[in-house]
Amino acid sequence: MWPLRTSGSTRAATVAAPGGATLTSVPAPDPGADEALDAVGAVLRALGRFAFEVDGQDPAAIAESFEAWARHVLVRSPRPGDAPGAGAVERDWTGLRRFVTDHRRREAAAVTAAFSDLREIVWTLVRGMARTVPTDREAERRAHDQLARLKVAAERGTLADLKREALATVSVVEDVVDDRRERQAAQMLELGSRLRTLGHQLEQAQAESARDALTQLANRRAFDQQLDRAADLAVLFGERGCLLLADIDHFKSVNDRYGHAAGDAVLVRLGELLTRTFPRKGDCVARVGGEEFGIVLRDATQRDGEALGERLRECVAATEVLHRGNLIRVTLSVGVAEVGRDETPAAWFERADRGLYAAKAAGRDRVHAAPAASDPSFIPSASG
Ligand code: GH3
Ligand code: MG
Ligand code: MG
Repeated sequence: MWPLRTSGSTRAATVAAPGGATLTSVPAPDPGADEALDAVGAVLRALGRFAFEVDGQDPAAIAESFEAWARHVLVRSPRPGDAPGAGAVERDWTGLRRFVTDHRRREAAAVTAAFSDLREIVWTLVRGMARTVPTDREAERRAHDQLARLKVAAERGTLADLKREALATVSVVEDVVDDRRERQAAQMLELGSRLRTLGHQLEQAQAESARDALTQLANRRAFDQQLDRAADLAVLFGERGCLLLADIDHFKSVNDRYGHAAGDAVLVRLGELLTRTFPRKGDCVARVGGEEFGIVLRDATQRDGEALGERLRECVAATEVLHRGNLIRVTLSVGVAEVGRDETPAAWFERADRGLYAAKAAGRDRVHAAPAASDPSFIPSASG
């Protein structure tokens, strides 16, 4: 530790010598001056110890300058920045005053700048949050009240006010954001469940719009779609497909004899029978007219179609429909046509229809092939 002072308190006393001469005497001690020097040294050291960064100058460097000035005052060491000399130097009180004043001025400017920077930051925060925070009315009111308090603190409050209101704002914003997140999660859940219901309803509606209400088979619209698809697959990939057109024989007389409801019951029963006869998922079994059915078989040849048509015909012929005490029997006529390469769906359908017509013409209750023109077993419809 440096000595607090060295002969700092001695002053030259001027005394009158006999004969009028003036002599400079031995310095007279001044205890008050010693205490003052001690105090100045202590003040300088305290200022250095609690220094903070100013203008980018490190607090340790500032503390060092204060220490150097304290030593200069106490032990008359060279002033800070001066080269070390051999002995004690004169105290530079003017220099010390200038150093302390400059430093305090720089400190005051730094504190003011920091405080106004902080206010600016808080303002930016207030403006940003005022735009983004409001959600529902209650949260909006809370957020706005808090932001108003923060605004007042930023304008006129002390640092402590500013700190308190800034923390309170953070807490309100956290609440509001949590609240919003929860509400959004609930909304998403509800929206999701509504979407699922809607999707289900749409699926059902789509399925229903493709189904015949009486027989629950595919309807004409769905059948046409499947026919187009099968024809496209034949053109594009040479996939095989076979079409069966079936028509109930003398169905009019069923209605006439047993009534329309009995006719409906027969149609329903035939629907079930058709579904059982053609269970493959890719096949389309449809009611294409009043008592007409169309079956599009994927990946099936003419021979497959004919065999399945025959099985269906036998099955129908062997079925009895009991309706109000009446046992009703019907038969089916079936036309079978495998899709030809590059054949349009309409041409394919027409060909199967010619097969059906031929089956009717040949006496009904039978399956009639209508092979494509390129097929060696092709029989022109006129002769069929
Ligand atoms: P063919 O052997 O030549 O096919 O004789 P058909 O009597 O079956 O043919 P036609 O076209 O003369 O008569 C078809 C009948 O099918 C007439 C119509 O009343 C009946 N029909 C069409 N749709 C329905 C229906 O949804 N329910 C009932 N019960 N009958 C229907
Ligand atoms: Mg008909
Ligand atoms: Mg008929």
